[in-house]
Amino acid sequence: MPGKLVIISGPSGTGKTSIVKHLLNSGLNLYFSVSATTRAPRANEKHGTDYYFLEPEEFKMKVESGEFAEWEEVYESIRYGTLKSEIERIWASGGSVLFDVDVRGGINLKKMYGNKAMALFIMPPSIEDLEKRLVLRASETPEKIRMRVMKAEAEIKLSNQFDTIIVNKVLDTAKEEVLTMVSSFLSSK
Ligand code: 5GP
Repeated sequence: MPGKLVIISGPSGTGKTSIVKHLLNSGLNLYFSVSATTRAPRANEKHGTDYYFLEPEEFKMKVESGEFAEWEEVYESIRYGTLKSEIERIWASGGSVLFDVDVRGGINLKKMYGNKAMALFIMPPSIEDLEKRLVLRASETPEKIRMRVMKAEAEIKLSNQFDTIIVNKVLDTAKEEVLTMVSSFLSSK
C-alpha cells in the first residue's frame, strides 16, 4: 500500500542534509530515497547509502528505460535523479519516503504526488550566510561555490511553490520545526 512522501528541498548548503539525517534518526516510519548521480563521491560518501554513483552512460540508459520518477541536470553536466524503484521499495516495506532533492525536482515530485506529498523549502537566512556555509564546508572549489550561490538566488524565487518555507537560522531550531511538521503530516489521514 502506498505511503506518503516528504520532500526536503532548498539551495545547496542550507542544512538540508543535517535536517534529513535528524528526521531519519527520529524514529519515524520514514526512509531515505537514495538518488542516482553522475558526480564523483565526496570523502566518506558510500555508494548505495548516500547516492548510487553512476557513470554518465549508465545514467543515460536508465533515463531512456524510464527508470527515473524525475531527474535534473542540477549542475552543468552533473545529473541527479530519483529512481522509481526507491519509492516502490520503501512503500512495499510499509514506510514513507524522504527525499533530499533540488528545487526543480522537489516541485516536480510535489506535482506528481499532490496531497500524498509534503514539500518543505529550507531557506538560508541570507545569500551571504549561504556563501559562508559553502566555504566552511570546503568540499567545492571557489568556482563551484560561485555557481551554487548563483543557482541559490534563482531557486529562492521558486520557494512559493512549496507547502512550507523553513528559515534555517539556527540549525537545531530548524530541525525541531521540521520534525514537528513532518510528524504531524505522517500521522494525519
Ligand atoms: P550534492 O552534490 O551537494 O549532494 O547535491 C546537489 C543537489 O542535488 C542538492 O540540492 C540535492 O538536493 C540535489 N539532488 C540530490 N538528489 C537528487 C535527485 O534525485 N533529484 C534532484 N532533482 N535533485 C537531487
